[in-house]
Amino acid sequence: MPLTLHIDQARWREHLRSTWNESIVPVAKGNGYGVGNARLLAESAALGARTVAVGTYEEVPSDPQTEVVVLTPWRPFVRNQVGPNVIHTVSRLADLVSIPARSRVVVEVQTSMRRHGIGARELRHSMLMSSLDRVRFEGWSLHFPMGAGGYAANIREAAELGRQANAVRKGPLWVSHVPATKLGDIGENVRLRMGTGLWLGDRGALTVRATVLDVHSVRRGERVGYRQRRVAGDGHILVVSGGTAHGVGMEAPTAAATVRQRTIALAKGGLDAAGMALSPFTIDGKQRWFAEPPHMQASMLYLPSSVTPPHIGDEVGVDVRFTTTLFDQIVLD
Ligand SMILES: *Cc1c(COP(=O)(O)O)cnc(C)c1O
Repeated sequence: MPLTLHIDQARWREHLRSTWNESIVPVAKGNGYGVGNARLLAESAALGARTVAVGTYEEVPSDPQTEVVVLTPWRPFVRNQVGPNVIHTVSRLADLVSIPARSRVVVEVQTSMRRHGIGARELRHSMLMSSLDRVRFEGWSLHFPMGAGGYAANIREAAELGRQANAVRKGPLWVSHVPATKLGDIGENVRLRMGTGLWLGDRGALTVRATVLDVHSVRRGERVGYRQRRVAGDGHILVVSGGTAHGVGMEAPTAAATVRQRTIALAKGGLDAAGMALSPFTIDGKQRWFAEPPHMQASMLYLPSSVTPPHIGDEVGVDVRFTTTLFDQIVLD
């Protein structure tokens, strides 16, 4: 009785192909953007990627078919043995000195993100120069904020930091969060790491559906669930697949319950409505309220009597955040 991700294969692959160009380095990390890393690596190979990026050493595939960049910076406590296809990210001078000699390395330079990276001022450190000779230098890495206000600031910063870094040693510039069409504005030999924009760039190709597992009619004020809350009115309790183990949280990722929605629920006589949360499940075109917080693998929803309840076995829509959801199954339509 699964939480299912349906992928419209033709549409999804069309988006991948139209987004793809040779400068892109597909990113396959974490939960694989909901789609799973194995599938993302296979799609990357089909696109013709020479290099892919993974998040951690644990995510490096056992028999990589391409170059693999590990995005989490190498640290002296990393014990993983890596093959010749693996490129490390080094983000501190001290690590550049202690990483095994002849390792393949991109050096991360700190940006306005302030996450990891060697400070731009440290780039001219004499130890950096000499340490670069110990390793196989594969370029510079820059990671940028999401670009909420447009990408102009990221492009400017990338061009400036790239210029400073290339003055130290010339090499490819690996960047993120700039438009693929603007790489030329940053400089030559720029490679773009892309996850979300590639895999989730056409959300219409991906549909998430939960299965209705049970339906019960209830009267206003009756108690339900682990917490024995009183229901807000006459109607139905639906039990649907999808709970905390899938990453289904108390609030939908996009449309959180507004004050107005809560007020309406309260006004409609919900005894516990003040404590209710709008669920990510959609029935009859509307997001529905949780009857109580999601369970491990299922959620209890309250459906007012004005709505005809779905049947057991029917599928209903769910609005999830792909990077935090673990689907029971993926169906290629
Ligand atoms: C995750 C990550 C990316 C990809 O980010 P998206 O927003 O999914 O495209 C690129 N670079 C680094 C360093 C990352 O950690």
